[in-house]
Amino acid sequence: MKYTVEAVLASGGRLGKLSQTSTAGTIAMETPMCTLFTKGGSAPHLSAAMLQRISQVPEVACMSLGSIASHHENVREFGKGLGEFSAMKDKVIFTTLHDATAAVASGKNDKGGVAVWGKGGKMKLDPQLYMKVQEAFCPDWFQALSDGDTDKTCGKKRLLKAVDRTLDFLDDIVEMKNESEVLKTSSLIGAIEGGYSVEERRRSAKETAARPVDGFLIEGFEKGHSSVDLFADEEFMTVLTETMVHLPDDKPRMMDAVWSPLQVIRAFRLGIDVFSSAYPHTLTEKGFALTADYSLPPTSQPAKLELEGSKENSASSGFYVDLNDKRFFESFSPILPGCGCYTCANFTCSYLHHLLNTSELLAYVLLTIHNFEQYFKFFARLRETGRQDKLSELEQSLARQEGGQREDVVR
Ligand SMILES: [Zn+2]
Repeated sequence: MKYTVEAVLASGGRLGKLSQTSTAGTIAMETPMCTLFTKGGSAPHLSAAMLQRISQVPEVACMSLGSIASHHENVREFGKGLGEFSAMKDKVIFTTLHDATAAVASGKNDKGGVAVWGKGGKMKLDPQLYMKVQEAFCPDWFQALSDGDTDKTCGKKRLLKAVDRTLDFLDDIVEMKNESEVLKTSSLIGAIEGGYSVEERRRSAKETAARPVDGFLIEGFEKGHSSVDLFADEEFMTVLTETMVHLPDDKPRMMDAVWSPLQVIRAFRLGIDVFSSAYPHTLTEKGFALTADYSLPPTSQPAKLELEGSKENSASSGFYVDLNDKRFFESFSPILPGCGCYTCANFTCSYLHHLLNTSELLAYVLLTIHNFEQYFKFFARLRETGRQDKLSELEQSLARQEGGQREDVVR
């Protein structure tokens, strides 16, 4: 992995180039970017052929260990790594600890290791087992073992422990990676911990940056993936800003959070380069379709306009519509006219409403296609808007769409 900053924006955030070289060649990417969210090694609800129907699919497939770690012996026996095993050999494979959309039980980590959860229940990973799993999977990038089981409620003692443990794990992993033939070309992503303590964040950032890591994953703000809106708390933004100061410019900074386009812009302006695409998946699971308008000024006529006068429907915001709503029974337009995705080109809201109503799996296939298409399009738009120096305008527009009308969106 190689990362270079192309431009630092006056309004915050940076545009960069990320490249990954393997025996198959070099993959060049631009930041800000998102990774492809996966479940059990594939894009949720989609076959490889269906995935190809989506535009601008990220080059990096993010695979969390919870659902796949217990299969590492099979993958080892297969002998060609997780990319081939999951028919994603053309992707950069990035293994992380936890699924951003799944609740994680708290209090299960200790100095001996970290717990992950899959279908078979809890699996405790100590550094040795962790590296055994990574060697079987042979990822292009992998997160170092870390204790991110912290949030705003944690006291100083717990935060100190999280940082210490994570650094100890990192030292063990660096040592084992140096001795591993299989992982010698894999990039190691160090985790930054410290909850809401500026002091511990600073220590974690400085100490991690002093070790041979290729990028940083910032976590430990949200114990158990509680889905709180981190941006509702000014302190989160202060702590994140302070953390960034101590990270070197020439390595990417990542956050694996379930974030709407508006939250992504806010995190990008604070210095995050690489994001998850877990957000569109969470919408899909609820029967929601992403309808945020990224153009300046907004021009599209999303299907939500058909709901005018239905403001009592709290399940719909300006970012998405709830296709379970019975008002879509007779809506014969696509989710988002002009979207260009396979779903919008071929199906009406009425049909999607019917599929959801009858619990047909096709509903989730078609919604995944649309929601991924729109979310991936957002990142292209975010880069373009950054180049045009119009991030504040886009942030304001999205904030208005969310109904926030917040005064504090322009910094
Ligand atoms: Zn669409």
